[in-house]
Amino acid sequence: MSKVNIKKGNVFLIDLTKCTGCRGCMVACKQWNQLQAEETDFFSGEGYQNPRSTSEHTFTLIKFREYEKNGKIEFSFYKEMCMHCDDPACVSVCPVNAFVKTPEGPVIYESDLCIGCRFCMIGCPFNMAKYEWSKKLPLVKKCDGCYSRIKEGLEPACVTACATAMDYGPHDEILKMAQQRLKQFPDRYLDKIYGKDEAGGTGVFYLTSEPFEELGFDTVTKRALPSYTWPALSLVPATFLTVGAGLSALTWITNRRERIEKEKNEKLDKQNSTESKEEQI
Ligand code: SF4
Ligand code: SF4
Ligand code: SF4
Repeated sequence: MSKVNIKKGNVFLIDLTKCTGCRGCMVACKQWNQLQAEETDFFSGEGYQNPRSTSEHTFTLIKFREYEKNGKIEFSFYKEMCMHCDDPACVSVCPVNAFVKTPEGPVIYESDLCIGCRFCMIGCPFNMAKYEWSKKLPLVKKCDGCYSRIKEGLEPACVTACATAMDYGPHDEILKMAQQRLKQFPDRYLDKIYGKDEAGGTGVFYLTSEPFEELGFDTVTKRALPSYTWPALSLVPATFLTVGAGLSALTWITNRRERIEKEKNEKLDKQNSTESKEEQI
């Protein structure tokens, strides 16, 4: 559990009035991070995006949102990704400091330190920390703001791929850009920058024409979340580590049980096929 010095660094501006839903950002993210493809399906749940949600294999997702306006059905796209919060809850709840808010802006994750307790998943108000449920020794996965690219002076891969809707740069410059758009085109935009104040301020700003709640954005408190968790957590580090270790053990036991079950089934399958061959002879 570590307190962070709030350093704003670089931020993303995502203008949803300009997003065409081309998903170039999703493809670029998969390519850069070498993430495997996921099976997609048609479903009648929230939105029609594919895959259904972000995951260990999908760090950013273009969500498809329908809403009613003047009796007509309209739609909009919404690019979901880690918000790179200024004072991130994932950083504050991690008992081994596996999450770090970098001075450049991105919130990164050091997998070597992670004990698999999953407090970050519970703490994140945007549900962006994902667990590798499919692995025997799972780690947490999320967008790292293309930190290695930023360090080399490059833009994040999704920003480079986007022809219309994304900008990236120093916090104050990007904020000014967003404010200018709101001032210049009041008929086009809702007068709000989502992400500027949410969860105490984030590294991703959104502009839309419609109320954010209607597009499926989370309603998040403006107070930085660690200000709720930190006073309590700092009093009980030992308990936290014990619970964390307990959860890791639980994961290990669950995986072991699944592996034994799988081996048992494979053995049975083999036996059955040998018996049926013998019968045929
Ligand atoms: S959105 Fe969640 S995972 Fe990303 S920095 Fe904020 S708290 Fe951490
Ligand atoms: S910043 Fe990098 S890791 Fe994050 S969504 Fe964009 S391409 Fe993916
Ligand atoms: S690349 Fe840009 S325009 Fe295309 S879906 Fe992503 S954010 Fe929208």
